[in-house]
Amino acid sequence: MTFENTLSFAQQLDANDTLKHFREQFYFPRHNGSDAIYFCGNSLGLQPKKVEDAIHVELQTWRELAVEGYFKGTNPWLYYHEYLRGSLAKIVGAKEDEITVMNALTVNLHFMMLSFYRPTKQRYKIMMEAGAFPSDQYAVETQVKHYGFDPTDAIVEISPRAGEKILRNEDIVKAIDDNKDTLALTIFGGINYYTGQLYDIPLVTNAAQKIGAIAGWDLAHVTGNVPTQLHNWNVDFAVWCSYKYLNAGPGAVGGVFVHERHANPSTERLAGWWGNDEKIRFKMEKGFIAKSDASGWNLSTTQVFNMVALKASLELFDEAGIQNLRAKSILLTNFLEFLLQQLRYDAFEIITPANEHQRGAQLCLFFKEKGKAIHEQLMQNGIIVDYREPGVIRVAPAPLYCSFEDVYKCVKIISEVLNTN
Ligand SMILES: *Cc1c(COP(=O)(O)O)cnc(C)c1O
Repeated sequence: MTFENTLSFAQQLDANDTLKHFREQFYFPRHNGSDAIYFCGNSLGLQPKKVEDAIHVELQTWRELAVEGYFKGTNPWLYYHEYLRGSLAKIVGAKEDEITVMNALTVNLHFMMLSFYRPTKQRYKIMMEAGAFPSDQYAVETQVKHYGFDPTDAIVEISPRAGEKILRNEDIVKAIDDNKDTLALTIFGGINYYTGQLYDIPLVTNAAQKIGAIAGWDLAHVTGNVPTQLHNWNVDFAVWCSYKYLNAGPGAVGGVFVHERHANPSTERLAGWWGNDEKIRFKMEKGFIAKSDASGWNLSTTQVFNMVALKASLELFDEAGIQNLRAKSILLTNFLEFLLQQLRYDAFEIITPANEHQRGAQLCLFFKEKGKAIHEQLMQNGIIVDYREPGVIRVAPAPLYCSFEDVYKCVKIISEVLNTN
């Protein structure tokens, strides 16, 4: 599509947008009496309006039925995590049985590594992208230490080539081959939080498995943003959070994918009663017998109130369809890129790949100087985006609730701020 740098063109794109009505399903933070422009759904998604009612339903169940809510509530709590699987399976491209929700992202990364990082003297290394999200770095560092390895030896970090900001696929594959006798696990963030680069998940998965390693993924910035095919791509496991593009609220329950070929009771894990075969769970007997699907990794009683918003939000994803959302997202982000390219381009560099298939909603603007100050001025002008050291302002129009007019106004304000700097 050929874009035009005018408000009326942006409004025309909105008029043609079949998903535009979803915007009214969300609360926007306010700025000077009107809705702020919110391009921070990559950090915390907006609140769907239907969450409040959904919470009231569970409060009522608790109030009126108390313990019987587990079996007789509107949504019997015993199975609450199961209500989320169908929608998530569609979003990540999996069978329902391959999905569970539990705990939170970093916790789940540890639990998955306890099952799938089984280091030996020979094969013990973990590969990840250099500059991975800090929590993932800490998780990997402490896992290798836990097994008595030295992180500087056991963690292989892949960096872009000198002078480049994004990783080349062939360099990842080569690094995997270079470590083919010692690599136990690859764990990349599907989209890097700082550059916005979307990695080639099937390519890396295949390369890792070919040399005998396990391929795990942190999809925090992917799930609800870019559709995947985790089952068909034969991914071993994946974890994600639900408070970014999935709009489930701060600290909401985490999501997990375990490929069905691993979901048998003989796969090692640290267990709790919610992962036990339900038929015998309440016999309170010795001997853990895992359920034969991803929920065999659940440990604790379902955290109902931590899942209510996710359930409400996933209903919107079901209605909109992840493929439709992705199609709008590509257009929205390409429009943003087009408008940014008309600006004083020397002030910043877009470090996110220019190829729409190598990114999701987010563009990362790298400022050699004044990045932080410019971020503050944008916030004062009602543009909610975030800043990550060093020098990056992340701009992420989420297709469920952001409009083309938002994009236009946002870039106009960026332009004004740049002109005063
Ligand atoms: C957001 C994010 C996290 C946060 O982990 P929590 O355990 O939910 O706090 C971890 N890793 C990545 C890649 C993220 O983007």
